[in-house]
Amino acid sequence: AKGDGRGCYRFFEPAMDADAQLQREFEFELREALVRKEFEIHFQPIVDIATCRPCAVEALVRWRHPDHGLIPPDKFIPVAEEIGLIIPLGEWILDTACRIAAAWPADVRLAVNLSAVQFRSGNLVEVVRDALARSGLPAARLELEITESVLLQKDHGGLAVLHDLAALGVHIVLDDFGTGYSSLSYLQLFPFSKIKIDKSFVADLPTRSDCAAIVCTVVNLAKALDMGTTAEGVETVEQLELLRAAGCREAQGWLFGRPGVAGALVLDQPLAAPR
Ligand code: C2E
Ligand code: CA
Ligand code: CA
Ligand code: CA
Repeated sequence: AKGDGRGCYRFFEPAMDADAQLQREFEFELREALVRKEFEIHFQPIVDIATCRPCAVEALVRWRHPDHGLIPPDKFIPVAEEIGLIIPLGEWILDTACRIAAAWPADVRLAVNLSAVQFRSGNLVEVVRDALARSGLPAARLELEITESVLLQKDHGGLAVLHDLAALGVHIVLDDFGTGYSSLSYLQLFPFSKIKIDKSFVADLPTRSDCAAIVCTVVNLAKALDMGTTAEGVETVEQLELLRAAGCREAQGWLFGRPGVAGALVLDQPLAAPR
């Protein structure tokens, strides 16, 4: 009967039915992917601009699909959030990344992205505490990257969880700074350790003076608030030098290394020629 109903519907609404069917299949495969262990964590170094040595590493999830190859997070994280899969997936990412990072040099931190949905799960603090305990990674070596969407929750529940997380001793980093709505006001809500300057501002640094002005302003603002800064998407030496001149402390991007498997990480030497 179910098949008949769908066939009938397809007759009238072919496009809509096909889309809905594809969406359901995608969601099913995504759930299965966690069971089948098809997710992988890739790691990208973040360097101290003064020395160009790695000071942290960001964990970035990918889906190794059996037919479609490596699928980037932008293609499945939003769906994982919609269907709630981000909760167990996020736990797996934290757990796995912490275990791997525990073997790194003690001056290299691990940065993990958290979804706003994880802040509504009710047990994020326990999940983080457990991941640290199981791996032995000291809390001070974990950076949790969040976007302002966490602070947008009307009940301020996200803010309460942030304070509980910070009490564990982990660092809270504000990601994608400048791409949201009223970012400045969020800096008053919570004492972030660091602000990540979005790659959209870095991309046009050498050619657009307005981008340089924005980067300088963010760096100075962060300094005034006693927060650090990381610039994302650094691809050229020219961009690096402009960031250095602006006083930005850390940088991340293809100039220093693309995201790759943990085994390929180089953590014991400069990743670009320091000036
Ligand atoms: P994001 O947190 O802002 O991560 C930075 C993105 O910039 C990554 O894309 C990274 O691969 C890319 N990138 C790094 N260096 C360069 C560069 O020099 N040039 C350019 N053009 N891009 C660069 P990716 O890995 O595709 O991740 C996209 C987004 O997916 C992330 O943005 C983050 O919002 C989300 N994401 C990734 N991993 C996770 C995760 O484990 N959990 C959650 N909740 N979200 C994740
Ligand atoms: Ca990030
Ligand atoms: Ca970003
Ligand atoms: Ca992002």
